Amino acid sequence: MSEKMKAIRVERTGTPEVMELREVDVPQPRPGQVRLKVEAVGINFADALNVGGQYLTAPKLPYTPGMELAGTVDALGEGVSGVQVGQRVAALGGSGGLAEYAVVPAAGLVPVPESFTPAQAAAFPVSYMTAYHALKTLGRGEAGEWVLVQAAAGALGTASVQLAGALGMKVIALASTDEKLQIARDLGADVTILQDDPERVQKVREAAGGSGVPLILEVVGGTRFGESLKMAADRGRIIFIGNASREEATLNPVSLMKRNLTVTGLWLTSLMQDAEAVAAAAQGLTPLIASGRVVPQVGPTYALADSPRAFQDILDRKTTGKVIIEPQR
Ligand code: NDP
Repeated sequence: MSEKMKAIRVERTGTPEVMELREVDVPQPRPGQVRLKVEAVGINFADALNVGGQYLTAPKLPYTPGMELAGTVDALGEGVSGVQVGQRVAALGGSGGLAEYAVVPAAGLVPVPESFTPAQAAAFPVSYMTAYHALKTLGRGEAGEWVLVQAAAGALGTASVQLAGALGMKVIALASTDEKLQIARDLGADVTILQDDPERVQKVREAAGGSGVPLILEVVGGTRFGESLKMAADRGRIIFIGNASREEATLNPVSLMKRNLTVTGLWLTSLMQDAEAVAAAAQGLTPLIASGRVVPQVGPTYALADSPRAFQDILDRKTTGKVIIEPQR
């Protein structure tokens, strides 16, 4: 194997153009790490925010973006067991995915079924585990209950619509265009409403039987968060997962009292430290994958050199499903 590889490097935060394709050393796995030949990298909104220095934690510069990836195990660091060279896996690695080879902690490997393509495997961990925790672990959603999914044609949105349906929940989907709403309907959304419809608050409440929605997955934030409070049913649960609008969301806790509302934050990164939550998600998702009711939704795919365009397309709301970058292309 050559000692050099192609990788994206970010030396200063900014717009996606700060991402540069470089020739760098192939990384060596340290104890407890595994090296993957990277076939596909799932790109999340958070990756784009990270490059912009706008995410929850600041990246340590310079760095190679790419938190979720799929590929073939290529080398094992000292002390790694239970995984073999040549095995196909997905991984949550924090960073480093946008390269021909990446090292990830062995603890970050995610088993994927043989039936998944590399792109499907890379589209799975972040969106489906987040959707599971939003709908079940934190959201306590029940079959037959209504759930509101924002940005429903996006990566997390498609996962949430599909998973909610598979769990027997009824879905109201919001998105910015008719084409995006059609994607949500194709995945089983029961009611779809344009997110800029002037009557959206009333329409959402009516769709859920007139008394509002018991469970809301909030990913837009900003001023839309105030609308979610109005869309919620009494005793409704709002899971605050993202602030894609990048506007300030304000909350007066007193407003929660009158209708006994609950607002819960969700960050997958910290939930992944909770072994019980990780096991619960794996247990909940495995049978749904096996039965074919959960199939990762792969969106547009790009070559490594086109990474800046992929990131910009996400920020410009041009993409649906999970954006995939294929470093071996
Ligand atoms: P998406 O593929 O869903 O892309 C983002 C979508 O957000 C856009 O397509 C757009 O959909 C919507 N959006 C609404 N307002 C804006 C805006 N002002 N600018 C850009 N997009 C906007 O990305 P992801 O699935 O990766 O993430 C979706 C959301 O979920 C993000 O807020 C992200 O941070 C969050 N998330 C959080 C996680 C966590 O652990 N807390 C894990 C995974 C995702 P439309 O055009 O239909 O409005």
